[in-house]
Amino acid sequence: MKETKFVLDEKEMPTSWYNILPDLPEPLPPVLHPGTGNPVTPDDLAPLFPMGLIMQEFSPERYIEIPEEVQEIYRTWRPTILHRAHRLEKALDTPAKIFYKYEGTSQAGSHKPNTAVAQAYYNKKEGIKRIASETGAGQWGSSLAFACALFGLELKVYMVKVSYNQKPYRRIMMETWGANCVPSPSPDTKAGRDMLAKDPDCPGSLGLAISEAVEDAATREDTHYSLGSVLNHVLLHQTIIGQEAMKQMEMANAYPDIIVGCIGGGSNFAGMFLPFVKDKIRGRKPDLRIINVEPTSCPTLTKGLYAYDFGDAAGMTPLLKMHTLGHEFIPPAVHAGGLRYHGMAPIICHLHKLGLVEARAVPQVATFEAGVTFARTEGIISAPETNHAIRATIDEALKCKESGESKTILLAHSGHGHFDMAAYESYLSGKLTDYEYPEEKVKEALAHLPGTPTV
Ligand SMILES: *Cc1c(COP(=O)(O)O)cnc(C)c1O
Repeated sequence: MKETKFVLDEKEMPTSWYNILPDLPEPLPPVLHPGTGNPVTPDDLAPLFPMGLIMQEFSPERYIEIPEEVQEIYRTWRPTILHRAHRLEKALDTPAKIFYKYEGTSQAGSHKPNTAVAQAYYNKKEGIKRIASETGAGQWGSSLAFACALFGLELKVYMVKVSYNQKPYRRIMMETWGANCVPSPSPDTKAGRDMLAKDPDCPGSLGLAISEAVEDAATREDTHYSLGSVLNHVLLHQTIIGQEAMKQMEMANAYPDIIVGCIGGGSNFAGMFLPFVKDKIRGRKPDLRIINVEPTSCPTLTKGLYAYDFGDAAGMTPLLKMHTLGHEFIPPAVHAGGLRYHGMAPIICHLHKLGLVEARAVPQVATFEAGVTFARTEGIISAPETNHAIRATIDEALKCKESGESKTILLAHSGHGHFDMAAYESYLSGKLTDYEYPEEKVKEALAHLPGTPTV
């Protein structure tokens, strides 16, 4: 019998998150206060985040216990299944062994509830009544709405206006879970009003929506801010994925030669690869390749500058050392909404600089081609974001076909694409186009970096 899926029992779900910080060969560059240029302190972040999360952001502990209440909710859909893609392998006629870990079975349909539930828990525990956040295409907003519903928290979501108008279903999911969702730029904040005065038809951007949510949280006692990617504590919560995958690869008597994932802010893929990076750093598997895949339309890691920049468009957040296309960057409206962010998780950028992970950009049409191949072999209709990772997985498997090598490839499958049928229709009818972000536009956006403060 060919084994097709590797299933962990509820009792085998990892009970702690893995924190890479103490295992980094060089320490992560500090987050800086934009006013003073000094490293931020926990107190600087206290108006926005609960102390439980702030402590995780800087924690020196290798393993951080997952609170029982969070574990209980995780177990409503976790552990997720590790699949062997026999049919895809056969269709590609490759000697490669392809495994994928599918995060689309969560209530919101992606990996994002792994952190949304944890963030809602720590806010609730510290007496917060209300959360403000932003969302691009709606995946993060809907995941947080699900988590807030379970903990009885109020939620306001600033949703990038183009998506708000074009993608009503995720908004309706948020409303079904009880959240209040408004299009960004909105008249509800100063950042939003300023932008509307400049350009009443502004389509919005993730960076601007972040400004609105941060302002909302900073100006209300009862409200905290929540971010769905990029920050250390978000990546930490996602490591449940990689730790489960490690156990499941053992069940399959395999260990990956290549791990592939898509990166928007970097959370789902880091959640998968961080436990494996630890092995690579320690010399257990020094030649392990870790491939971060991003769109050519938003080429943060492949074309951005590694510099200090704001996390939002208005320049209200602390400064993060990361690959950036400039905080004023407004990405073209490609379908992988979750991959359209000007920055990238500092942990991923640092590992990239240290040569421990690699990056690759792929054009949109080829990602849908890969996604359709995946749907017609494995059956799952994947999120447009995930299709980027599937593209690179197929490319690596085809290289194995050429070389005759039987490599083991592990794909981080971040979610389903059931709300992205319009994008698939556009591809199937031949209307989808590629967009390469022009070099001069990258330069233009980078001209407005805040400058590297001296530490
Ligand atoms: C949000 C999202 C992403 C991108 O976010 P990361 O933080 O980089 O993981 C990727 N895939 C899906 C399905 C998403 O919803």
